[in-house]
Amino acid sequence: MVDAPAGLAGRVRPLLSRLPDLRGSARALRSPREPGRGAEDARPLAPAALALDPIEKKPFFHVLPGASALSLGTAGCNFHCRWCQNWEISQSRPEEVPASTLTPEAVASLAARKGAPVVACTYNEPTVFAEYALDVAVASRKEGLRTVVVSNGAIREEPLRDLCAVLAAYKVDLKCFSERTYREQCSGDLKAVLDTLRRLAKTKVWTEIVVLLVPGLNDSEAEVTALARFVRNEVGPETPVHFTRFHPTYRLTNLPPTPVATLERARAIALAEGLAFAYVGNVPGHPGESTYCPGCKARLIRRVGMATVENRLAKGACPDCGRAIPGVWS
Ligand code: SF4
Repeated sequence: MVDAPAGLAGRVRPLLSRLPDLRGSARALRSPREPGRGAEDARPLAPAALALDPIEKKPFFHVLPGASALSLGTAGCNFHCRWCQNWEISQSRPEEVPASTLTPEAVASLAARKGAPVVACTYNEPTVFAEYALDVAVASRKEGLRTVVVSNGAIREEPLRDLCAVLAAYKVDLKCFSERTYREQCSGDLKAVLDTLRRLAKTKVWTEIVVLLVPGLNDSEAEVTALARFVRNEVGPETPVHFTRFHPTYRLTNLPPTPVATLERARAIALAEGLAFAYVGNVPGHPGESTYCPGCKARLIRRVGMATVENRLAKGACPDCGRAIPGVWS
């Protein structure tokens, strides 16, 4: 997961603790719908991380630029990535992590009160709390808010279909383009993720892809080229792809940060392969963070780090040449 909370001891826990009126209202959020479990042994599913983030941090670059996203995560993940930034919660069980219960309705209400038009299910893998995410999305929609998820993409068809009925946007971390690397570095399955991307391409849910480039593991020219061709041919050439910078963490502290030149090369490959929107991420101030018109090349949205500092889009189009720019803009 590229999107990381500020830290359980930082702004995440205090945000919960400042809201006593929203706590302690837990109900059975998950268990009643699990086969073989009844309400009597239900336990509430509780956010272990909760924060207000810029939506650019997720990262979504084609969804309401500059918006705040009330972001929440729980514990657990169906992958075990050796570079996980959020391993403290993703590699833990719910009972091992401090958490506070928050109903889906309370999440939506909190987002509305904080002026956040978006609720983001993120930090750990939303697939492991898919039913809670679904309830949050339904409650948020009633408040006039949008819900997005930040996912590794390993989700079965049925829950994905349920989520897509209520989500505004889906971000998929495409870890690499190698079955072997998926298996060895993430305990994951490339095919499952590609199937999810193919399914998302058939929905109206806005989709963006993030590729964390890790030196020596997934950054070869051949692999990036194959990945870009897959996106172009099977997801769509207008799908934004973010090539983001790795920093040593968790079980990969022996590797160096990704050279900026590697990110720039990946972006150039993606553009040359016909993708309309390829970005450089985790390099604050880099020109590759901004959105350019694929038609006339004018800069449309200027970003610095996680901040949108200029947005020239006019009704979802380039103001200079009129080319439509896909996304969720209003
Ligand atoms: S998929 Fe899970 S283990 Fe991998 S980076 Fe994301 S949260 Fe961490």
